[in-house]
Order: sequence, then C-alpha cells, then structure tokens
Amino acid sequence: MRPLWLCRTCGQPWPCGRAKLDLLAEYEGSRVGLCLYLATLLCGAIDDLHRLNPSATGSTAGLFDRFLGWPRAPHPPVPDDHNDQVQAGEAGS
Ligand SMILES: [Zn+2]
Repeated sequence: MRPLWLCRTCGQPWPCGRAKLDLLAEYEGSRVGLCLYLATLLCGAIDDLHRLNPSATGSTAGLFDRFLGWPRAPHPPVPDDHNDQVQAGEAGS
C-alpha cells in the first residue's frame, strides 16, 4: 500500500470501496476509533505522497476527503445540546 497508497488488491487509491467496507466492519461501533486510525494514516499519506510527487498534493483537502470524508455515521452522534458551532458561525456574520 505505502508509499503510493494504492490498494494492493485492486490498485485503486486507498481506501477503495472494499477497504472501506473492511474498515467499517473492523471498527463497527467505534467510529471515533476508525476516524483516529484514518487520521493517523492521512498524516502518513500526506508525507509519502508529497515526497513522491509534491505537485500532486498541492491541496491536502482531497486527501482529507479521501481518508476522512466517507465514514459517515448512520445517526449523527452529536447531541442536541452541542449547538455552539452554529452559534459561533452566526457570530461571525
Ligand atoms: Zn481495493
């Protein structure tokens, strides 16, 4: 997988669809653990890919989405009383 971060099985950018399913199964019930694991991998991927081809990783936003944009919880685990983010956004306008 490293340092190109392509799937060993299918050659797609990792995590591919199959890898995501495997990760979801492995971290079932622990989305936080899954996100922490992916965040750790993301840091390594940014380092590796930037070293290999700096021009291809000018934006890490794409990598962020690739690693951390997909594991959506079926039910958002944010309690109703955690609305301070919304209020902070309104304060800026
Ligand atoms: Zn694959």
